[in-house]
Amino acid sequence: MRARYPLGAMEQGVIKVMKFGGAALRDGPGVRRVVDIVTHHGGEAPVVVVSALEGVTDLLVDAARAAARGEVNSDAIRIRHRSVLAQLSADPELLDRYSRELSLILESIRGRRELGAVELDHVLSFGERASARIVAKCFENQGIMATPVDSYDLGLKTDSNHRNARPLSPARATLERSIWEIPGIPVVTGFLAKDGEGNLTTLGRNGSDLSAALLAEAVEAEAVEFWKGVPGVLSADPAVVPEARSIERLCFADAEELGHLGARILHPDAIAPAVRAGVEVRVRFVKDPSHPGTVLVKEELGVGPVAVVATVHEAREAVALVGANNEESGALARRALEERGLSADWTGRSKSGRAVFLGVKPGEVLEALRAVHGALFEPGL
Ligand code: ASP
Ligand code: MG
Repeated sequence: MRARYPLGAMEQGVIKVMKFGGAALRDGPGVRRVVDIVTHHGGEAPVVVVSALEGVTDLLVDAARAAARGEVNSDAIRIRHRSVLAQLSADPELLDRYSRELSLILESIRGRRELGAVELDHVLSFGERASARIVAKCFENQGIMATPVDSYDLGLKTDSNHRNARPLSPARATLERSIWEIPGIPVVTGFLAKDGEGNLTTLGRNGSDLSAALLAEAVEAEAVEFWKGVPGVLSADPAVVPEARSIERLCFADAEELGHLGARILHPDAIAPAVRAGVEVRVRFVKDPSHPGTVLVKEELGVGPVAVVATVHEAREAVALVGANNEESGALARRALEERGLSADWTGRSKSGRAVFLGVKPGEVLEALRAVHGALFEPGL
């Protein structure tokens, strides 16, 4: 057994899976902050899961499409990674072999003037493969042993539904390599897997959350933490409602409903594996690790609406009130709309019954969202 973390002090211990998305991995200081958070809040045995650096997946999609039109250019991607390496005073050539591999694939896409799903997933994989190397290097530069790990090398297998692949069986059954064999802190690529034929697959945009949850299930982690750019799951999208507040405790069913309605906080499928495995799920704030964020719990909290979301239901714009026992609040919300001359012209319920929809006129949904949030969550307004 290799010593792992802190150097030499640990053998096996309680595992915490910590997932960091693109927003956390924006630049060199962001990567350093990740290393800092893991070092101070990772407990006995942290396992890190990373997305691509912010914006890189979009750059990769663009590069693949451009190649299919006859233009090969991966400069933007190379420069993005190199500038973060420079900010970290890390070897500028760290990712050169990946850059070369990427150029070769782009060339072959250009040659055929066609972008197949298999190649696109291969191209997309560079984002997470690169960020895992960068983050592991940053640990190493701080004197902490860490190993970049491609999730498919651990045995994460999916169907062949490229760009939106789903795990084949509970990840525990497919895990081929013990997490304890990995020297130091494993820094695992999110988003990526392989299918039965060995082709790279990806789990859908924002799929790293799902990777983290699957891994947490597979390694029997005690907790999985999603470290985000917001202080937990909020009562509304803070870009629309700056007063939105962090929800301390949220039940799984409401979190799932929020995901299905399009709240961008957690990948909608990411919760299921953790629920299955009884792993504790937390959403935490990268900018303030002392903030408690949100704990997701199994039990029904029955506290009425926990959040409001601007959504589209049956092709019509609506404000959704999410949470059990939302009947009374529906009436309150309607009154708040009426007071502002924004009547709800229809109402409805989601399939699960956990969301009430108040349909509003086209173009008025954001204003309606603010009004409803004010009425439900900002007493005294
Ligand atoms: N990098 C991928 C994306 O941007 C996966 C993720 O961020 O979770 O969609
Ligand atoms: Mg991302």
